[in-house]
Amino acid sequence: MTATIYYDSDANLELLKDKTIAILGYGSQGHAQAQNLRDSGCNVIIGQRPGSANYDLAVEHGFEPMSLADATSQGDLVNVLLPDEVQGDIYRNQIRDNLSPGNIIMCSHGFNVHFGQVEAPEGVDTLLVAPKGPGHLVRSEFEKGGGVPALIALNEGASDETFQLGLAYAKGIGGTRGGVIQTSFAEETETDLFGEQVVLCGGVSELVKMAFETLVEAGYQPEMAYFECLHELKLIVDLFYEGGLSYMRYSVSNTAEFGDYSTGERIINEDTRTEMRKVLKEIQDGVFARNWILENRAGAPAFKARRRRDHDHELEQVGRRLRKLMTWIDAKEV
Ligand code: NDP
Ligand code: MG
Repeated sequence: MTATIYYDSDANLELLKDKTIAILGYGSQGHAQAQNLRDSGCNVIIGQRPGSANYDLAVEHGFEPMSLADATSQGDLVNVLLPDEVQGDIYRNQIRDNLSPGNIIMCSHGFNVHFGQVEAPEGVDTLLVAPKGPGHLVRSEFEKGGGVPALIALNEGASDETFQLGLAYAKGIGGTRGGVIQTSFAEETETDLFGEQVVLCGGVSELVKMAFETLVEAGYQPEMAYFECLHELKLIVDLFYEGGLSYMRYSVSNTAEFGDYSTGERIINEDTRTEMRKVLKEIQDGVFARNWILENRAGAPAFKARRRRDHDHELEQVGRRLRKLMTWIDAKEV
C-alpha cells in the first residue's frame, strides 16, 4: 500500500482568503507556520501568553499576540502548537468553549486528539497538518523557495471542505512543495511515538550509552569510547540520510561492512523484536499515553529524576569536555 501524496497543484490557497488562522503558541512550529502562512497571503493571528521570549519574538515579527482564548474566538482555523503535555488542560480551560460550529481545530501532532485529550465540540472538525521537520527548517526551507514535506489527517466524518482547507493550509506553510502524505490520527501518533521510543531517542541513546560503558569498563579511555560510540554516529547517520543503508555500506571500509553483517544481528536480535512489538502494543492500547499523562499530573517527578541522572553520566561529562575542543562544532549545553 503506497501513500497518496499531494503537491502544490492539488491545493488552492484562495480557500483561505476569507478565513482567519489562529496560531496558538509561538514556539518552534508556531513561529515557522505563522510566518510562512502570512508570507503566503493568509490572515494570521497569534495566541501567545505574555512575559516570555516567544511573546517578544512574535512582536518583533510584526504580530500582535493576544490570549489563547481571544485568538481562538477570532480564528476560523485554530492550530494548537503548544507542547503536547500541556495541550489537554489548556484545551479544556482556554480553547474548547471559544470554538464555534464551523471552526476547525488543528494540530501538528495527533497525540492529544488520538488519546482523547482534545475532543472537538459538535460542528467542529479536527485537522492535522504536520510538517516532518523542526520549525526552523519549516521556515528556512520556505524562505529558500522549498518546503518540508508534511502529513495531513482528518477526524472521521470531517467534510471535504475541511480536507481542502487542510491542503490549502499545507500549501501556505510550504508543505505541498515537498509533498503532503495523507494519514490518520492513529497512524501519525502511533508511528511517531514508536519511532522516537524505539529508534530515534530511546533506542539510539541506550545503544550509545551501553557501548560507551562497555568500553570504559574494559579499561579503554572514555575519550576514545566517546569518539567511537557517539561522535562518529553523525557520519553514519548522514550516509543513511543521503542514500540509505546501502550507501553507508558502500562508503565504509569492507572490514566495517563485514562487522556490520556479522555482529549487528547479535546486538539487535529476535528478543529485541519481541520487545519492539510489546512497545508498539503499549502505544496502540494507550498504556504509554496514560503513563505520560499521569506522570505530568504528578509534576513529572520520575521524568525529571531520570533527566538529571543521564545529564551527569560519564558519557555526557566527557562529551561536554571534548566538544569544546572541536571548534567547528556549535557545541550546546543544557
Ligand atoms: P515549543 O515548545 O517550541 O513551543 C511551545 C509554545 O507553547 C511556546 O510559544 C510556549 O510559550 C507555549 N507554551 C508552553 N507552555 C505553555 C503553557 N503552559 N501555557 C501557555 N503557553 C505555553 O513547541 P513545538 O513547536 O515543538 O511543538 C508544538 C506542536 O508541534 C506539538 O504538538 C509538537 O508535537 C508538534 N511538532 C513539533 C515539531 C518540532 O520539531 N518541534 C515537529 C512536528 C510537530 P512560552 O514561550 O510562553 O513558554
Ligand atoms: Mg516526531
